[in-house]
Amino acid sequence: MKTAPQNPARLLDALRKHFGFSAFMAGQEDVMRHVLDGKDTVVIMPTGSGKSLCYQLPALLLNGVTLVVSPLIALMKDQVDGLAARGLPATFLNSSLTPSELAARMAGLDQGRFKLVYVAPERFRNRRFLDTFQRLETSLLAIDEAHCISQWGHDFRPDYLRLRPVAESLPKARIMALTATATPEVRSDIVKQLALGEGGRSEPQVLVHGFERPNLRLVVSRTARHADKLRRVRLALKTYPTGIVYCATRKQTERVAAMLADTGQPCCLYHGGLPDEQRSAIQEKFMRGGLPVVVATNAFGMGIDRADLRFVIHWDIPGSIEAYYQEIGRAGRDGKEALCELLFNFVDVRTQEFFLEGNNPAPELIRTAWNAIRRECAGGPVTRSLEEWALFVPVGRNEMAVRTAFAILEQAGLISRETAPGDRTYTTRLVEGADVSALDAQLTYLAEKRRRDERKLKAMLRYVDARGCRHAYILNYFGEHNISPHCQACDHCRESPRQAGRAPTEEEWVLAQKILSCVARMKGRFGCGRVVEVLLGSKAAPVLERRLDKLSTYGLLKGHKSSYVRAVLDELIRDGCAAVADGEYPLVSVTERGLAAANRKAVPSLVWPELPKRKAPAAGGIDAVADRLYDPALFEALKAWRMRTAKAQHVPAYVIMHDKTLKAIAVVRPQTLAELENIKGIGPSRVARYGDALLAIVDAAAPASDDSRE
Ligand code: ADP
Repeated sequence: MKTAPQNPARLLDALRKHFGFSAFMAGQEDVMRHVLDGKDTVVIMPTGSGKSLCYQLPALLLNGVTLVVSPLIALMKDQVDGLAARGLPATFLNSSLTPSELAARMAGLDQGRFKLVYVAPERFRNRRFLDTFQRLETSLLAIDEAHCISQWGHDFRPDYLRLRPVAESLPKARIMALTATATPEVRSDIVKQLALGEGGRSEPQVLVHGFERPNLRLVVSRTARHADKLRRVRLALKTYPTGIVYCATRKQTERVAAMLADTGQPCCLYHGGLPDEQRSAIQEKFMRGGLPVVVATNAFGMGIDRADLRFVIHWDIPGSIEAYYQEIGRAGRDGKEALCELLFNFVDVRTQEFFLEGNNPAPELIRTAWNAIRRECAGGPVTRSLEEWALFVPVGRNEMAVRTAFAILEQAGLISRETAPGDRTYTTRLVEGADVSALDAQLTYLAEKRRRDERKLKAMLRYVDARGCRHAYILNYFGEHNISPHCQACDHCRESPRQAGRAPTEEEWVLAQKILSCVARMKGRFGCGRVVEVLLGSKAAPVLERRLDKLSTYGLLKGHKSSYVRAVLDELIRDGCAAVADGEYPLVSVTERGLAAANRKAVPSLVWPELPKRKAPAAGGIDAVADRLYDPALFEALKAWRMRTAKAQHVPAYVIMHDKTLKAIAVVRPQTLAELENIKGIGPSRVARYGDALLAIVDAAAPASDDSRE
């Protein structure tokens, strides 16, 4: 492989000359050196960190052509316009061009007029393009948004699978796969799917740069109702000029945009169901600064390169940390502070569960789709939209699931599809001589994918509940371990500025030893909550059923407050004495450092929570206060609800909730789930089960004598 001249001064000169930038952004030079050295690279750099330049500048320095595969037409146009404005010979080929324009550009390619050519992955379905492509001297194949090739990623696109043979047909070219978001798992899948390091290619360099986005202020707000969410969004609109409100569904964008109609701030809505022209118009207007706020689904994103977004609010929880980080990554690209707030309501998780179902349809749905296609296409190819095909697949009638089923059948090599020009229909045909058993392999694979998607959603939910630094949580998730655990930019770090840890007092030492030995005895098979229950000697059914009451550490910390024990356990985790698994369940286990600490061979350095007074039998306190102050009408309403609920579940009323808890609710009048959760006797599971119902009752009962409330 030929290498281009790459003396450092020349590279910088080229940067200045061609792009007018005075210096490289973090990581760019490193990546370029590898490329110019002839190496294959997997480049993982966050949104806005200047990934495009990593192939644009080498493209100008290398002989031949650089082919850039990118999934979004709007993105290509922007990039090519940007390059053209600098006098750099670039073009793009996609379905937005007229046939004559396309032919002219292809001819230009043949004549060597372009150094950089952007194409969408589906271009590799096109015979004419493939012919031209084979004649080109391609020195660099850059694959943007490379996570789309991984079915483990959050944005898999079947057309990306076509890129493996493309890469294989270019043994002399360097390959560069770029993405902003990739877990270590996805990274190795990108390498595998593109066959990098195989068939005579040397191992690729995986270059990870600058995932930290310290200017993003990460906040999670627990919101019980739409009204709470609306309040938060209105506040952001009042405080900041520009941003995006992401919703999980098209319908939701419409509702939210309508709710915000009276803010005086022009909020535009955007989703994949709008006509193409309208979508491009909105995107262009937004990019030019003509639209301050967009309420959108995740269809609004790739290619949003506006530096001054001051907020990205998620009305609904997304399905994975990957998706979340990519979406909030669009905020604050100018390096100034930007708010990234997630408005969390437990019921929103259902939408993500629905998507999970749609992306991972049941095997019987896929088989039904296969039988329908076999029947319908027996006489030859059939051109139909997915909506039409959905009528032939009676299982579930979930269009999303039908779409996935078709993609799976295509991957299994049983069918082939081509987009019919000009509309959203496909021409589907049976692949002659296909091996039907390939479908079984796909189904096994799908089952695995489903588990992975479930894990991703759980990791997203854990982000909501995470107690430590939110930046650290995300970076850890992406496999960056060399990071400060305190950012000063998330709600947790800001609310409780990190103090320096200190060695324990004698009493604290003993306590830490007890906790660590209990974690060790539970052998990494349980979560933190269960460990605390065992230490406190809980008689909860799961503790007794798993015979955890037989452990020698059972009840060792009886009489302590569970919140205190949990806080110490969390600190031990932060200090590296215990670790929480990344897998499906957040199982906690003791580390080597923890074992050393348990034997007093290492000194844990914790921010010790204040040791509270032991629980004494209630002889006043909140119960007595609640007895004096509660609102009797609300208490009665709560009791009536409890009776209905207990009846429905065939359990005694006290199992649902104690009187004193209901009284406390009738004193506090919680407005949000978070406030409700603060009430003694109400834990996260009660909030999840009854939270909305309780808040609705509080909402419905007018306060007895308090005119200061809203
Ligand atoms: P990404 O693809 O990583 O999201 P882009 O390649 O779109 O990021 O770059 C983000 C912005 O940074 C663009 O406006 C680009 O022109 C600018 N940029 C890239 N490299 C440099 C540099 N070395 N100096 C200044 N600005 C740069």
